[in-house]
Amino acid sequence: MPLDPKRTVAELQELRSLTGDENGAQRVAFTAIWAKARKWLREKVAAIPGIEIHNDAAGNFWATLPGATPRSLLIGGHIDSVPNGGWLDGCLNTLAGVEILRRVAEEHKGQPPVTVRLVDWADEEGARFGKSLFGSSACSGKIDMNETRGLKDKDGVRLVDAVKEHGIDFEKVKDSGKELATAAAYIELHIEQGPVLLDLDLPLGTVLGTFGVERHAITFRGQAAHSGSTPMDRRRDAFLAAAKMSPEIYEIAKRSNGGPNGTGGVCTIGSCTTKPGIVTSVVEECRITLDQRHLDAGALQRMLEDAKAASEKFAREANVTVAWERIWNIEPILFNKELISMADAAIAGAGAKPHRLPSGPLHDAAEVARSGVPTVMMFVQSLRGISHNKIEDTKESHLHLAVTAFDKLADKAMEWIAR
Ligand SMILES: [Zn+2]
Repeated sequence: MPLDPKRTVAELQELRSLTGDENGAQRVAFTAIWAKARKWLREKVAAIPGIEIHNDAAGNFWATLPGATPRSLLIGGHIDSVPNGGWLDGCLNTLAGVEILRRVAEEHKGQPPVTVRLVDWADEEGARFGKSLFGSSACSGKIDMNETRGLKDKDGVRLVDAVKEHGIDFEKVKDSGKELATAAAYIELHIEQGPVLLDLDLPLGTVLGTFGVERHAITFRGQAAHSGSTPMDRRRDAFLAAAKMSPEIYEIAKRSNGGPNGTGGVCTIGSCTTKPGIVTSVVEECRITLDQRHLDAGALQRMLEDAKAASEKFAREANVTVAWERIWNIEPILFNKELISMADAAIAGAGAKPHRLPSGPLHDAAEVARSGVPTVMMFVQSLRGISHNKIEDTKESHLHLAVTAFDKLADKAMEWIAR
């Protein structure tokens, strides 16, 4: 067999020793170590016969194996990491893609039925400038140019200057969009970064899409009053109303389970501030933030409406007012149904049990899907369910299985494109 998953694991270890230290991976995008990782990647890929390599206008790295038709299968990953990151997040995807390119080149003797392309996205993590999915959002055309143009790192270095050092003219990053003109399908392998597959004792999963998000600030307003002289039944206590929201969101999330995709939503109250915020006063104003996520747009909308109705009821009960303000939202991004079925079949074909799950985090794949290219992702189990940490890990046998199943998915997708 030309596919050698053991080589992928060996290359991941090689990359770790080349670009990591005792605290973990240090491949932060647009730094010298990231450039070193990219140079190493380029050398690996350049050894594949018949391959064409270039960087696009947003700094994304493309390696193309031309086929009988320009219609392309894209395989994506990101070699950049967070500071003190894990050894698998992002680069597993890229290096599995390299192994698939080798297999396809050898099997089809330089003329695959469709074009196969590896893309290593630039700055997926956004660790330095606080803006994730830089390269893929430029490519999809969804990047917010005004917001991104103003970004600086913690030392005051502007993003536009940092990217220039790596050959990127910020004003032209959207030109990278032309790379997607011939894209017929996009696939991405990724470490799960959560505990779902671990808890089910399954090595692999098919990703249905990425959660939609509704993020709001909720402000309850009552009246400040002396904590000693104000009888309990005369208070307009903003904190009382806000506090009732905490158990309520668990009920709302529980009710959202068993939606059309059989997956539930999540709700988080992540912050709470009170005014005047002193020990001797009833709370006049209490502001909480609520983050709600669901894969199904209708279910997400119901979770939001339920939370609004509950806040109004609790405000009435406490004789206070309530006001909502949207901080941010994004719609759920669903992956392609046919590719989802192919991913299930590829997992089964590798000898594992298929399982479908949503992704809580966003990934480059979401940007590609938003641009209209049929997309799917495959997850491999995370030990301890931990990522963005040097302790991130996956069993070696699961990594071998992941590369094998992902390669089978690539084959099925190529057949699908050729049809
Ligand atoms: Zn990642």
